[in-house]
Amino acid sequence: MTAAIIDGRAVAERVREQVAGEVAQLVERTGRPPGLATILVGDDPASVVYVAMKRKACAEAGIADHHQHLPTDVSQADVAALIERRNADPEVSGILLQLPVPAGLNGQDLTGLIAPGKDVDGLTPISVGRLVRGTPGLRPCTPVGVIALLDAYDVPLEGAETVVVGRSDLVGKPVSLLLLARHATVTICHSRTRDLSAVCSRADVLVAAAGIPRLLGAEHVKPGAVVIDVGVNRAEQGLVGDVDFATVAERARLITPVPGGVGPMTIAMLLRNTLLAAGLQESAGAQSAA
Ligand code: ADP
Repeated sequence: MTAAIIDGRAVAERVREQVAGEVAQLVERTGRPPGLATILVGDDPASVVYVAMKRKACAEAGIADHHQHLPTDVSQADVAALIERRNADPEVSGILLQLPVPAGLNGQDLTGLIAPGKDVDGLTPISVGRLVRGTPGLRPCTPVGVIALLDAYDVPLEGAETVVVGRSDLVGKPVSLLLLARHATVTICHSRTRDLSAVCSRADVLVAAAGIPRLLGAEHVKPGAVVIDVGVNRAEQGLVGDVDFATVAERARLITPVPGGVGPMTIAMLLRNTLLAAGLQESAGAQSAA
């Protein structure tokens, strides 16, 4: 078997066009575009690139850009004060603190200050709690992008055997909870898992999010499985995923490439979350005015 490729760029493009259309409707209705406040602290090269990509995508979707770049030596209190100002600013629908922040700052504490209704990264304790409970809230972008890709390719999740490799707060845990919410049977593997290939080979849907280049090969994949590779590892030959694409593509039914798979979905989902946040604030405003 040779797997069909899941085209993340094409799916992301459709999502972005849809968001742009809904942004235009919101502007018509309220006279105000949604706004995204990105906060970049310091000059980590990867973070600089990611934030630039997010701002560009926002502008293309008609979302207002409220970027702030802070120096590496800024104090925790000053970043906290900026977040509080953004929380109170009616022009800001969503707030994104780019992680990691420089040593000396506590990124988790700072993220926790973001108002839940503006938490477009879905990483505050309140958003995480809502995800665990299954109540409405903003969900983290990469995990929700994984689900959107599976949906775009009509991959059945209800009752499916799904295995997630990795238990990070950013990807592994939230994607597991989203799969659970879709009634999948979910197994989470991590560095202490005893027999990784035996567990992974059970999966109808295998999600790789361990951050280890080519951790998963053909022996980890059941013939006909759907393989989603969240890994983004910088190697000599460029970006490589957590999945050994060439050998796994011979066994799987559907597979995401790296780059061009999950990556483009993350930004598309950030735009969608910003639009959702703006909609929530609009209805909250309408309620308090009533
Ligand atoms: P992410 O980009 O998904 O947030 P991280 O690098 O932060 O990735 O986290 C890596 C995750 O992968 C950790 O939760 C860790 O437990 C898991 N992991 C690390 N090594 C292995 C391994 N050999 N097998 C399975 N899981 C692993």
